[in-house]
Amino acid sequence: MGGLCTGAGGRSLSVMWKTVSEDCNLACDYCYYSTCGGKPGKINRIDFALLDTFMKDYMRHTDGVAAFAWQGGEPLLAGLDFFEEAVALQAKYAPPRTVISNALQTNGTLLTDKWAAFLKTYRFLVGVSLDGPKDIHDARRVDARGQGSYDRVMNGIGHLRRHGVDFNILTVIHKGNVNRAAELLAFYKREKFDHVQFIPCMDFRSQETNRPGVYEITPEEYGLFLSEAFDLWYNGGAPELSVRFFDNMLSVYMNEQAELCIHRSACPDMLVLEQNGDAFPCDFFIGEEWKLGNVGVHSLDDILASPVYDQFKALKPRLPEPCRSCQWKALCHGGCPRNRNWSDNRMTSEPDYFCASYQMIYAHADERMKSLAGGLRLRQFESNVRRYLKGKVPGRNDPCACGSGRKFKQCCLDDVQSASLV
Ligand code: SF4
Ligand code: SF4
Repeated sequence: MGGLCTGAGGRSLSVMWKTVSEDCNLACDYCYYSTCGGKPGKINRIDFALLDTFMKDYMRHTDGVAAFAWQGGEPLLAGLDFFEEAVALQAKYAPPRTVISNALQTNGTLLTDKWAAFLKTYRFLVGVSLDGPKDIHDARRVDARGQGSYDRVMNGIGHLRRHGVDFNILTVIHKGNVNRAAELLAFYKREKFDHVQFIPCMDFRSQETNRPGVYEITPEEYGLFLSEAFDLWYNGGAPELSVRFFDNMLSVYMNEQAELCIHRSACPDMLVLEQNGDAFPCDFFIGEEWKLGNVGVHSLDDILASPVYDQFKALKPRLPEPCRSCQWKALCHGGCPRNRNWSDNRMTSEPDYFCASYQMIYAHADERMKSLAGGLRLRQFESNVRRYLKGKVPGRNDPCACGSGRKFKQCCLDDVQSASLV
């Protein structure tokens, strides 16, 4: 999701843009956003003048890093000329020495040799939606005629591979694959997919922000899925696959901050833009009551100063009682506010719908995560002591040599002593 820029008040901001609004060439039956049924008609892509206006404003606020996530619908329907214009405007308005990055989430079916060459040239990170082997994928990810898209997606991935484009796989977990974790993991291995992430299937539209979150799978099913996937991922203490959920858990055990919003204590500063420039604080809060403004009309400063933004940001830390005393709070932080049922005044809520899933996977993985993280931190510690500290172990109050940013005494001291490294 997005990247970083320094917005009003010096805070960093990630930007995700719905490039073609709801337009999509597929009609996946569980889609939480598009209603065009795989027949998009005339494409509603972002207007070039709007793109220019926002790019200029956004780049004025950057502080060395400018990053964008392009989503849909199916963003490739915007056409190569749209993305050529986007990267040209980024280059035009970015201050000198700005690092520009772009991410793109696609169903993969429209990828061609020409697209892959472009994506490689501009170093896009591409997320491809793929729900598993052909029978699983084709049951839900279909076009307007009801035909599965698996072969077209794999063909698209072939183009990415030939051009050396960085890509990862996004798998929606639904009734058709939630009991098939082993098959999914074997599939990723067979196809040499080394970065994957899971998203539990939503049974509501992201625009219906007043409707409670409804999901196709039960918390128990998702918890069992994650636990089985974890056993395979762990691989006897030598994971070979990057699974975003487990990587984020591992970061916390490494005394680092998770990168995925649901694992963090606060929702990140993020701007989700509709194709027409309407701005919202999150992909799951695209409703009129959460509208922050429009980037074609309002300045970024005004949008970020919207009181609606503050109301949104206040939700996540307003934890329900069970979360406040939960033993897994540091890993979970109450999950996602969209998955909690809120009181009318939004001052209180139930725990995240997937609370039971989280409790299950966190308990299931705890001992092995501790062991994995402990070993990794010690190796990092030893290496950094050798390379940067001329063999001298830090003092108790010095920054820990593992690189966590914590004080040594609050980080690796006990482990280092147990391993007789001091
Ligand atoms: S596991 Fe459940 S109770 Fe614990 S922090 Fe997460 S949502 Fe709250
Ligand atoms: S509301 Fe949920 S999805 Fe949105 S930023 Fe917060 S944690 Fe992430």
